[in-house]
Amino acid sequence: MSYVDEVYERVVAQNPAQPEFHQAVKEVLESLRVVIEANEEEYKREALLERLTTPERIIMFRVPWVDDKGQVQVQNGYRVQFNSAIGPYKGGLRFHPSVNLGIIKFLGFEQIFKNSLTGLPIGGGKGGSDFDPKGKSDREIMAFCQSFMTELCKHIGADTDVPAGDIGVGGREIGYMYGQYKRIRNLYEGVLTGKGLTYGGSLARTEATGYGLVYITDALLRDHGMSMEGKTVVVSGAGNVATYAIQKAQQLGAKVVSCSDSTGWIYDKDGIDVALLKEIKEVKRARLSEYAAARSSAEYHEKKNGEHGVWNIKCDIALPCATQNELNLEDAKALVANGCKVVCEGANMPTTMDATEYLQKNGILFICGKASNAGGVATSALEMSQNSERLSWTFEEVDAKLKGIMENIYKNISEAAKKYGVEGNYVAGANIAGFQKVAEAMKAQGIV
Ligand code: GLU
Repeated sequence: MSYVDEVYERVVAQNPAQPEFHQAVKEVLESLRVVIEANEEEYKREALLERLTTPERIIMFRVPWVDDKGQVQVQNGYRVQFNSAIGPYKGGLRFHPSVNLGIIKFLGFEQIFKNSLTGLPIGGGKGGSDFDPKGKSDREIMAFCQSFMTELCKHIGADTDVPAGDIGVGGREIGYMYGQYKRIRNLYEGVLTGKGLTYGGSLARTEATGYGLVYITDALLRDHGMSMEGKTVVVSGAGNVATYAIQKAQQLGAKVVSCSDSTGWIYDKDGIDVALLKEIKEVKRARLSEYAAARSSAEYHEKKNGEHGVWNIKCDIALPCATQNELNLEDAKALVANGCKVVCEGANMPTTMDATEYLQKNGILFICGKASNAGGVATSALEMSQNSERLSWTFEEVDAKLKGIMENIYKNISEAAKKYGVEGNYVAGANIAGFQKVAEAMKAQGIV
């Protein structure tokens, strides 16, 4: 058995009942096969892949809080500090009922390669809780965030581990957690990113993941003699990533006709009205059904068996921006049959492995999330830089840096794919390019 296969079997055996983690590891290891097999003995002697797939540290804790009825609730809290070879641990916090250790490990593992691809000095980590912010009062959110940070603050710091947002964690939650960190540790430092603009946040951080996704999609299109202008785009999700991807795609002349949330999805033949979407999702924190009620060109559909119908809409470009495994083989077949040419992931691992293979085999240009959604964490690293120098840059400055970073990621992943004989396979290119910097740093730092 080859070293790559041995390590994959070991991961499955040692991490039972964590299918998303296995899936993320499998995708990376398959891509790395060509690199590892060229130098198998050395990698094996140093157990580099075993070290890479084993988190440096896992912190799990109880998060008790009191709801508005006076009832005590108990949630699970996690922080997986996966790899610090190239910088302090960096990655978001996810608050969603589906969160468990396996989900956080898959996200933390992806984050190692994503952060490496940004070219900035950030290691990989991820955290979160099975807390569900949906329907909670502001006071309940604050109570939970304070309790969560009361424990987490012992393990993080501006030069140690810098969390940020993810699903269920936006500006409001970051604010409450930052306040509690400062109160307990008595440190005014850049320990979290995605902060509000009045207390150390960076301009363009809110927009960064969605904008970055469209910048890299645009770079991909231009490289293949196309552009965003006049294209029909389908987007899933209605959170921070989806909203700003829709906005930037529209600015570049595309028509975006869909979005989705946890209960349903929208088809808007005239193109999504971003101002209305933001009003409903960011201000009212309401359901997408309200979007259709306010706009006659839009249809609202309830999800069936938890699945949206966005991938059945005829389009040129699909941008999955909701959550993991939301685009399966059937969806991939529908996209191909309808003439879709490009799929770039805004969420983390939204496409299943068989769907990815099907898209690639059928000539779709496909960029995986660890490359195409890296704009968020890249801009978080820019926020860290601004915090360290106690200055803040203009929107234009940050946005220009973000665009440069995304174009650079595209160039690096294309070149890596070409160099290893898999031209046009941007999944392999991303995994190889992301891995190389981390592997070099790990080797240089000895057996730690
Ligand atoms: N949660 C985002 C991601 O998946 C952002 C993380 C960060 O800014 O640290 O990359």
